[in-house]
Amino acid sequence: MPPVSDIDQHLVGKLRERHLRVTPQRIVIHRALCAQSQHLTADQVLARVSETLPGTSLPTVYSTLELLEELGLVRRVGTGNSAVVFDSRVEPHAHTVCRRCGAMADLEGTAAPDDALARAGAAGFVADHAQLVVWGLCSACAA
Ligand SMILES: [Zn+2]
Ligand SMILES: [Zn+2]
Repeated sequence: MPPVSDIDQHLVGKLRERHLRVTPQRIVIHRALCAQSQHLTADQVLARVSETLPGTSLPTVYSTLELLEELGLVRRVGTGNSAVVFDSRVEPHAHTVCRRCGAMADLEGTAAPDDALARAGAAGFVADHAQLVVWGLCSACAA
């Protein structure tokens, strides 16, 4: 994981490119996503951010996450559960999701499902990206 100063510089650079303001909320929300755990729901982001910036609201978290997504700094991941999860690792990668405890993990060494993207394009669908999710039981739940 890169040091906080690099994480901040990356965000500040992207915001400046678009002539957007650098606000404490944007900095802290981006930091929360780039810290150890990569997959966070908006509620989890809010809980972490509230420690540093009390009074931050959920709508602010959502609008900031949407902005970060637009800037290419986070990606939303569909888990099949109701909560949308945000991932600070933006290069294509697959996930495993445990159907019992909900744990989500990165799966290394898997390519993006190119065939699905090609088929979507052929059907006139303008695709952003495709995600592969492997469902099942994590090792702790399977034990
Ligand atoms: Zn599990
Ligand atoms: Zn991931």
